Amino acid sequence: MLLALTKTANFMAEPKANELMEKIVSLCKRRGFIFQSSEIYGGINGFWDYGPLGAELKRNVKDLWWTSMTRFREDVVGLEATIIMHPQIWKASGHVETFADMMSECPLTKKRVRTDQVDPQTGIAYFYTGAGSADGATSTETFSVLIAVGKPPESARKSAAQFYEMRGVKSPELQGERSEKIENTMLYHPESGVRLTEPRPFNLMFKTFVGPVESEENVAYLRPETAQAIFAQFKNIHETSRQKVPFGIAQVGKAFRNEVTPRNYTFRSREFEQMELEFFIKPDEAVEAIHGTVATVPSTGHPGEPQPNWGWQAWHQYWVEERVAFYEGIGLSRQTLGFHVQTPEELAHYARATVDILYKFPFSKKNEQGEMAGEELEGVAARSDFDLSQHERFSGKQMGVFDEELRAAWGKLDEEKKKDLWQRYHDARLKYLTKTGLNAEKAAKKAKEDADGLAKGQYIPHVIEPSAGVDRLILALLSNAYTEATETDDKGKTETRVILKFHPRVAPYKIGVMPLLKNKPDLVKKALEIRDTLRQHMNVFYDDGGSIGRRYARQDEAGTPFCVTVDFETFEGIKDGANAGEKDTVTIRHRDDGRQERIKVSELLGWLLPKVR
Ligand code: ATP
Repeated sequence: MLLALTKTANFMAEPKANELMEKIVSLCKRRGFIFQSSEIYGGINGFWDYGPLGAELKRNVKDLWWTSMTRFREDVVGLEATIIMHPQIWKASGHVETFADMMSECPLTKKRVRTDQVDPQTGIAYFYTGAGSADGATSTETFSVLIAVGKPPESARKSAAQFYEMRGVKSPELQGERSEKIENTMLYHPESGVRLTEPRPFNLMFKTFVGPVESEENVAYLRPETAQAIFAQFKNIHETSRQKVPFGIAQVGKAFRNEVTPRNYTFRSREFEQMELEFFIKPDEAVEAIHGTVATVPSTGHPGEPQPNWGWQAWHQYWVEERVAFYEGIGLSRQTLGFHVQTPEELAHYARATVDILYKFPFSKKNEQGEMAGEELEGVAARSDFDLSQHERFSGKQMGVFDEELRAAWGKLDEEKKKDLWQRYHDARLKYLTKTGLNAEKAAKKAKEDADGLAKGQYIPHVIEPSAGVDRLILALLSNAYTEATETDDKGKTETRVILKFHPRVAPYKIGVMPLLKNKPDLVKKALEIRDTLRQHMNVFYDDGGSIGRRYARQDEAGTPFCVTVDFETFEGIKDGANAGEKDTVTIRHRDDGRQERIKVSELLGWLLPKVR
């Protein structure tokens, strides 16, 4: 007998975006995926903890990334570096000088917002040129506040009076009031309606001090990305791992950014995790010297297995497609993803191209055509040789590699080709060196040295960087998996419940193991035996409490893709059907459609493994 559930499921239409986010947030708390950090003290904005189910989900995602990036590849090795590093690293990377968002403040409430992330508003803006009071105090500071269309002007005047009182003008008499309708403005604070202060840069790095003395020379930073450690250790890894360019270094770990406005649940947090790969490649001039030409690949689609004649464009395309394939492999179909190709204005000066891989979150906005682009999950950037060049400049240590194949190939080139490649490499280096602020004479001298070096087989590797956020991916997986089903039981009672349809690879538990009844020692013993066998290979949840239907529902809500139940037929043999009489079988129940089938206990592991790995 299959354990029949006499329930009918029909899937509801998608709840509205905000409602859906609220449901996801509440489920995450109720089931122990995500909690607010320090919740008993009222929480701390921008910090989140992962509970038992969330911790498993996160671990699975990081393990899958790590395995696919390093263990399943010959050309990528791993690194686990410290969070606090030499502060020079952040000077070399540009973070000390430029890792800033523009921030504006509400002059009344002092609340800060990221200037580029204010939701556009429409309303009536009131302007004041100043205020004076009976005791002679005056202020000539201007003030403006936006109020909803149709709202009486008193509310604007109240805010203005508060503002001038804060400047020492008691019972202010407002001056120069005028009003005007303004549409889609981002200049006013979304809560107070008060016009924001002029934007100013706000560095996002968390600062701390190393050692007991809190002085300027002891300042250190919590890393705002994991990537820089890879560049700083490039030489050590290149020398010890027996890898040759092209090869990559992967790292997973915490990153910290003092975001001005953390928001959208875990999407923009102040402490988060990244999974970053720096894939080092030869400069195109070296590829051309060795192979005659640099391969051209179609601008869309996977370019296939890496080829020795690939230049940066092919490698960049390859990594975008590899990353999309990774997302597809864990249940995020291409339709749920979006792409943003950075425009020349958006690109960093050293970057050749960047493609952001987006996910269509419930809070993602639709454009005028009703299409949803999505929010960034990962950026795949072709960063030229900027990073290693910067570390060479700041540390004074050579970051280049020697390439015997290039040296040998260069010797066989005709003079014209040598000249052409030399010139192109020279010009690219000169452009970089000039940007660093080096004076023209020194830049020209160094660019010539670098180009002469290329002719002898020396170059600084270029890099392709796929950089993904773990927490954003977890949120994408939760949003993607969230499904509601309404079910009507035998007595006509209707209930709506949640099924998290995670891909089995990422699901926190792969299987629930259950004895049909907990007071039957044979059933319990067998179920425990199955649990113990399976848990050598995967995360198993053992559950013997409550009705079997309730137990299935609990696992559906946790996203467990399969449940097995040990019942009487396990011992007595299957009652009817094609396999009647067969013993030592269990019922497997599928989460997504409630389907049940019988399987031999001895075949269970072999059946499960390819599905969950
Ligand atoms: P955004 O434009 O959204 O601030 P970014 O372009 O600054 O992101 P990167 O510096 O490219 O992000 O970081 C790589 C990845 O790290 C991002 O694609 C994202 O997944 C993740 N990430 C960056 N900032 C945060 C954050 N504050 N909270 C969670 N994840 C983040």
